[in-house]
Amino acid sequence: MKRSWGALVLKAMGGRDFRLTVLDSERVSNTLHRLHVDGGGLLTAVDVHPTMWIRLWFDNGGRPHQRAYTLVDPDPTTGRFHLEFALHDGCAARWAGSAAPGDTIHATLQGSAFTLPDPTPSHLYVVGDSSSLPAVNSLLDAVGDLPATIWLEYATDDEKGLTHRTRTGQEVVWVPRLDDGRHLVETVQAALPVAVDGAYHWVACEAGTTRAVARHLRRGLGVPRHQISALGYWNAR
Ligand SMILES: Cc1cc2nc3c(=O)[nH]c(=O)nc-3n(C[C@H](O)[C@H](O)[C@H](O)COP(=O)(O)OP(=O)(O)OC[C@H]3O[C@@H](n4cnc5c(N)ncnc54)[C@H](O)[C@@H]3O)c2cc1C
Repeated sequence: MKRSWGALVLKAMGGRDFRLTVLDSERVSNTLHRLHVDGGGLLTAVDVHPTMWIRLWFDNGGRPHQRAYTLVDPDPTTGRFHLEFALHDGCAARWAGSAAPGDTIHATLQGSAFTLPDPTPSHLYVVGDSSSLPAVNSLLDAVGDLPATIWLEYATDDEKGLTHRTRTGQEVVWVPRLDDGRHLVETVQAALPVAVDGAYHWVACEAGTTRAVARHLRRGLGVPRHQISALGYWNAR
């Protein structure tokens, strides 16, 4: 596949390229497909951090199509990790659904950065969905027993069966995707009418929904920027 200007720009910004090889491919449910991959040296080249993601380059009719995916359970001793794809009608999701052992794909590492807040927050508030669940789970692994409230938006009942890595004292609230995500925003607004002292907020779902939740936190509640991480994970079209 031809590399695009986007790939050259990422390289100029310090992006590092790797070739991943599919080792195993598993249809977990109607809405989730998991791949086990060899990272082609990625895990020896860099240290991993919670919510770490890479840019994968898909072939879309001969044109490069770049999308972000999260490293699941990276194992530096073997150089392997999993990728979990929420399924919908998209090029990346389609590629994953038909990927077989031996298939390869280019990955660029550029832009992923996250450090756990210091000092440890009093409470973790998370707003996500099936596309950010791999990142949410890595965050939960990293914070251990920290009290947490996690709102997860779902489009189909099947998604409520997805595995989340909560512990005692951490609550998941499943919220149906209604009114183009406004229902999720209103649910969070109703549950968080005032800022909670010392809390950290991590938001990653559909782009417009993410912006609306972040606006509520910043402008509505006055939460300082360093207590919020917000990134749109996909665009409704
Ligand atoms: C930092 C980061 C990490 C991410 N990690 C993951 C991950 O680990 N697993 C994962 O599944 N996704 C993840 N995503 C989201 C993923 O990159 C997007 O869903 C992406 O748009 C999928 O590309 P596509 O080619 O399949 O579809 P696109 O070509 O982008 O879109 C095709 C159609 O599908 C719709 N669509 C796209 N994504 C979704 C979705 N999630 N739900 C419903 N409809 C959708 C679009 O609105 C459009 O109509 C991550 C995104 C970011 C920014």
